This record gives sequence, structure tokens and C-alpha cells, in this order.
Amino acid sequence: MLARAVAHISESALNHNLSALSGCAGVPLLLPIKAEAYGHGLQLVAGLAAAHPEVWGLAVATPAEAQAVARLSLGKPVVLLTPPAPEELTALADLGVRLPVGTLAEAEALPAHAVAHLKVDTGMNRLGARPGEAVHIGQRLAERGLLEGAYTHFASADEPDLSFSQEQFRKFQGVLAHLPPVLAHAANGGGVLSFGRLPGMSLARPGLASYGFAPEHLRSVLALRPVMTLRARVNQVHTVYAGESVSYGGLWTAPRDTQAAVIGVGYADGYPRNATLKASVLIGGERRRVLGRICMDQMMVDVTGLNVQPGDWAELWGNGKITVSNVAEWSGTIEYEVLTGLGVRAERVKSE
Ligand SMILES: *Cc1c(COP(=O)(O)O)cnc(C)c1O
Repeated sequence: MLARAVAHISESALNHNLSALSGCAGVPLLLPIKAEAYGHGLQLVAGLAAAHPEVWGLAVATPAEAQAVARLSLGKPVVLLTPPAPEELTALADLGVRLPVGTLAEAEALPAHAVAHLKVDTGMNRLGARPGEAVHIGQRLAERGLLEGAYTHFASADEPDLSFSQEQFRKFQGVLAHLPPVLAHAANGGGVLSFGRLPGMSLARPGLASYGFAPEHLRSVLALRPVMTLRARVNQVHTVYAGESVSYGGLWTAPRDTQAAVIGVGYADGYPRNATLKASVLIGGERRRVLGRICMDQMMVDVTGLNVQPGDWAELWGNGKITVSNVAEWSGTIEYEVLTGLGVRAERVKSE
């Protein structure tokens, strides 16, 4: 069957962003491709990214993602960012997946052929060991010959005030000073765009920025390009007569006779229902608003005066007049949530 929605993944935009970000950071990238590569498609993005000369490796969030990417045999290291269960360790180590270590118990549980990245908690208070303990764990890992990398994660690098991030980075440097040389990585996208080169770092981990989005105050640092364009088909066009309402709850009433196109995307595809009465799409060469409630599988769009037929495509977000940032704003969330919420019904297709 034909896909009703297609997410076009631009190879040139991704390559442009990866080059720009590694240039800015002054180091190769450990590219986050967790959560289906921020919704862009795990296998598709892993393949594209692995071919980029400035991508050192690929970072994932779950053991299942690590296994899926490692089995692609792309020739680049796969780094798991959250702790696996003890019974998963051997299979992951067998696949060469780099494993995160944030406690002494996790370090001691590693098999002898494991490769570890020490996670240092410098203020995020999510995963990892506090600096003093991290030194001890890192030294133990190094004694066993398992320590390849060490990393930390900024909690507020996407905010204009960088004092907390600077404090985090100082703590991380303090740990590194007591370890043998390792692959050190700290910056997420906000960190790369805010700090550029960070002394002593070997890699950087920009996620959302690699897919084309930066916090508002950092948008002028690099000209990033949105990688995904989401299009959906028009399934029907009909007239709504003046005084009639459209969709659940009758939230919108036609002030005059209106042509409505029914588009095959809804909140089950990840288009946020909270964008109801705020959303617009690009259709027939114009920006047109969505009428009434966004449904599970469909939405209705005002195409009055346009020549729009069933089978035509509407652009829901992309690199033009409507971006994921707009959709996130209409629905009161962030680009991360909109992108990772894109469902499995939208086909991911590589494009220019
Ligand atoms: C998701 C994640 C990143 C990427 O963060 P962005 O804000 O998307 O740049 C980097 N490091 C870790 C540990 C992460 O979990």
C-alpha cells in the first residue's frame, strides 16, 4: 500500500550539519541516534552518519538500539548511554558495544572483553558517579584495561546563562586529570554551539542540532538545516457550508462556504493534538490553517480557492515556511518531543 505520510530525510542537510558542528566543536562527533535517530529512522540515519568522515561513532539510549545498530556492521563504534541489565552485558560486549559505567558495581560486573565509557555526574543528577567516586571507578576500569572513554552531560547548556555548565565542565576536567588519557566527551548540541572548542575533549555529542535545530539564542552561531520534511497525502476534498462545524466537538464553524482537504496524518502519527486551532500546513503552494480538532488519523485543512485534489501532498513541517519549531510552539512542547513522537506509519525515505 502507499504510505499516507512520508518523512523525507535529507542527506545533504544532515551532512551539512555534521560538518558544521564538528567544525565548531573542533573534534569528531559521537552522534546521538537514540529514539529512532530523533524520529528520523535509526537504520537510515546510522547508515548516512557512518559514511561521514567527522562521525567517530554512534550513541544510543537502549540496549535494543545498541544491538540493532551494532548488527548493521557499519564500521563505527556504538556507544550505549544508559546502563544495561546485568544479563545483557555479555551480548553487548560480544557486539563491541561501548558500555556506560557509573557505579563500582557496574564496573565490577563488566566482562573482561568489555569496553567502558565512565559516566561522571557533574550536576545533572541523572546517571553516573560523582567526581571523587568517578576517579576511583575509572582507575579500577583502567587497571583492568577496559577504559576507553569518560563523559559527562550538561544540564543547562541550551540556556543563555552558562555558569552551571562551566562549573560542570570544571568538575569533569578535575576527574580527567586523575585518569590515564581517554576519549573525553561532554558537549551536547547546546554545549557545542555555546562553547565551541572545549579544552581536552576528544568528541562531542550534538543530537537535536545535528537534525537541524538550535535553541533560539544560538540560531545565529551556525546555519543548521532541518533534516526532515514531513508530507502527507490529501485523501478527500469537500465543501463545508457556512454555519457548519468541523471535527470533534465542533470547535470551528465555517463563517462562509469553505473547501476542506482531509489530510492523512493525525495525533496517532505524532502530529500533536495540542496544536488544534493553532496549526497550519503548506498546501497548494500556500500556508493554510487546520480546521477544528486534530483527529487520530486525519486533519482537515482550509483549501478554499486552491486547486487541491485527492493524492496531492501537504507539507506538515520541513525546511521552509513551517518548521518543527513552529509545530512545537503551537502545541506547547519542544522540537525533541515532536520529532521523537513521529509514529511508525510515516515512511522514512532518504532524499537529496
Ligand atoms: C540525548 C543526549 C545527548 C544529545 O543531546 P542534544 O540536546 O540533543 O544535543 C547528548 N548526550 C547524552 C548523554 C544524551 O542523552
